[in-house]
Amino acid sequence: MAYPETIKVRVKTFGPIDESSQEYTELRKKLADHKRFRVWDLESKCRIRGGVFHINTKHLFNNQSVTKEGLRIFDFADYSRHPSESNIRYGHYIENLDELNAARAEQFKCGYCGARRDGAQGQWCISCRGSQYLEPAQYALLEMRAVSDDSPRDSTVPLDVIRDIECRQAAAARKRVDARIEAMMKAAQQKVIDATREVTFLRICVDAGIGKLALDNLIYYRHSDSFCFGWRERVSPETARKIDSALGEHKGRYNVTIKVAGGE
Ligand SMILES: [Zn+2]
Repeated sequence: MAYPETIKVRVKTFGPIDESSQEYTELRKKLADHKRFRVWDLESKCRIRGGVFHINTKHLFNNQSVTKEGLRIFDFADYSRHPSESNIRYGHYIENLDELNAARAEQFKCGYCGARRDGAQGQWCISCRGSQYLEPAQYALLEMRAVSDDSPRDSTVPLDVIRDIECRQAAAARKRVDARIEAMMKAAQQKVIDATREVTFLRICVDAGIGKLALDNLIYYRHSDSFCFGWRERVSPETARKIDSALGEHKGRYNVTIKVAGGE
């Protein structure tokens, strides 16, 4: 990387001044090569004061920057408080853009996913080629262009890039299909496990002489692997005792609860 991790810039502020003033006219002339960001400061959030800031160069943009000080600064921010006061201007600008613009000419980015790479002239992004959302009409966006270059991305997409996108998308789709199949198989296996557990317990009930009770008034809660008698209609204390003695040690083993009339 030929440019530093941070670029020190001096920010100056101006205004409020009238757009028809000599001062504003001279300012525009002086900043003729600055990308101007014209915006309404409706909530008066513009808090940039003049001074020295350190731009983080990891992710460069063509008209604004993020600073180590945690602020977003524009090359030239030209604010008005409200559309009704559009003639009154104030804002900030970076005094000297040379170093920043040199870095912007060297850092290339993908127009689709924003991946950055230095000196990637003539290259096509490989970070997003397998994206399931990438459509043919967007392929041209994958051309790596200098951050400072905001001309339309309308180059012809090389055939090998198209083939590679198709291959990667097919591979990614296969992976997603495999993952779905695995999830479906797991769910199916779990269903068999649950059914087996329920069937086994129903047989125990039949053998213990409470098969009819089980058919009429027993539920199996798969999420907690537990059985409940009396879920449809609470059973009498007498029936509860009958179930208790019929099941014996199976009651604890199969997490069986009984809802008794008059009970909780
Ligand atoms: Zn990309």
